[in-house]
Amino acid sequence: MSEIKPFIAGNWKMNGTKAEALALVGDLKEKYEALAEKYFEMLVCPPFTLIDTVATQLNGSGIAVGAQTLSALGNGAHTGEISTDLLKDVGASYVIIGHSERRTDQRESNAECKAKAEKAIADNLKVILCIGETQEEKDSGFTIEILTKELTESFPENASAENLVIAYEPIWAIGTGRTPTAQDIEKVHAGIRETLESLIGIDDAAKMRILYGGSVKPSNAGEILHIRNVNGALVGGASLKAEDFWAIAEASNYNKR
Ligand code: PEP
Repeated sequence: MSEIKPFIAGNWKMNGTKAEALALVGDLKEKYEALAEKYFEMLVCPPFTLIDTVATQLNGSGIAVGAQTLSALGNGAHTGEISTDLLKDVGASYVIIGHSERRTDQRESNAECKAKAEKAIADNLKVILCIGETQEEKDSGFTIEILTKELTESFPENASAENLVIAYEPIWAIGTGRTPTAQDIEKVHAGIRETLESLIGIDDAAKMRILYGGSVKPSNAGEILHIRNVNGALVGGASLKAEDFWAIAEASNYNKR
């Protein structure tokens, strides 16, 4: 049993009209506010275009809002980029960094992820740093070594358990309906915790949240969220439906096990 409050985060990716977003978060807000004991924390990460709308709707609800990336640069002549200041101005308090889709599509390197995470933390945004192995890397049998390298090279120097969350997202499990076995998730999360110990010390490493992401849905959330060292989930597809996202969050209740 973990002492860390489960953290359920939704990554909407490049999805959502204003009307869809309002309906989705309206539903989540109502449910979260009605929850007598807030036994999990919830975060939604809409596309940039919806952050203002969503944050306004969720204001005061206790559900946090985040972005899916940001620029490591400060405000100024950087066409198309979004800075920490601009995100905070519209109500974001978190940002996802290093999602595998950005590492692949935008070729974001570990060094870039590190720079973005450091800038976000320096400017008081909390970071969800994603790491994960490809199918080929998994098949090589060196998953832990590969993740250790990715985590170490992307890891922000100014990290603490308060401002950084790690998300383990096997790339081959994202949007595929496939998930690792519970034993594999447990092994990887233990390996990540060990790496964190060497990066920030035992005390902070013990408190840092490590999320699992990759095809989490209501039917597998109960099992995944109760694996040792799994402190929550980063949810893609299923976070676009209030009912599914809520069911995943509810499955994190350790007392219902
Ligand atoms: C993700 O992209 O972060 C993710 C976990 O996606 P899905 O839940 O759809 O696999």
